[in-house]
Amino acid sequence: MADRTISEELEFFRDLGIQELFVSAPAVPELVVGSMADLPALERFVDGCPRCRLSRSRTRIVFGAGNPRADLMFVGEAPGREEDEQGVPFVGAAGQLLTRIIEAIGTKREQIYIANAVLCRPPENRNPEPDEVAACRPFLEEQIRLVSPRVIVTLGTFAAQVILETDEPISKLRGRWHVAHGARVMPTFHPAFLLRQPQRKRDVWDDMQKVRDYLASGSPET
Ligand code: URA
Repeated sequence: MADRTISEELEFFRDLGIQELFVSAPAVPELVVGSMADLPALERFVDGCPRCRLSRSRTRIVFGAGNPRADLMFVGEAPGREEDEQGVPFVGAAGQLLTRIIEAIGTKREQIYIANAVLCRPPENRNPEPDEVAACRPFLEEQIRLVSPRVIVTLGTFAAQVILETDEPISKLRGRWHVAHGARVMPTFHPAFLLRQPQRKRDVWDDMQKVRDYLASGSPET
């Protein structure tokens, strides 16, 4: 029996008169937050992830990128079209604006870490659904644990609500320090929103100055 090929096995069952066989898919292991040694191990763990329906429409998983020891981590919502094609977070128009925001506080993309609340692009750029966020949450939390940033800047409503586990709107959350995941959290507007509403860039500049000053001095002003 053990030496039979799969087709020999199927023929065996057919000869017995069996017409239908139900084969259960192998169980997909859950990530235990705290179990991964480093980011490359986590990236290998999520490779080919089938845990939610976004896996059926994505081109690529978009894992976080940047300095694995960054003091500053940005968390966006979900990959868009360019990110899905390239497998890198924030490379489209919003990503280019994010790069300018990062440089405006005197740092560089290579020095910080950028992740998204979900790793795969939702079709037509719709918002991720709660079950998709839940399926991806351990991967975001494990990235935060491994990078261990001093500051997390959340970009837009969605990322702020995921990181802070709240349903408060961004208008109530942004511009103020919060504490979560062992880090100070500064919610600000998403760069895609700034592309539509450039007059709100001033608010983001105010938020980013607080981040820059905290990273330089270690004492947050509220
Ligand atoms: N918007 C996001 O929230 N994340 C990306 O990676 C790109 C655009």
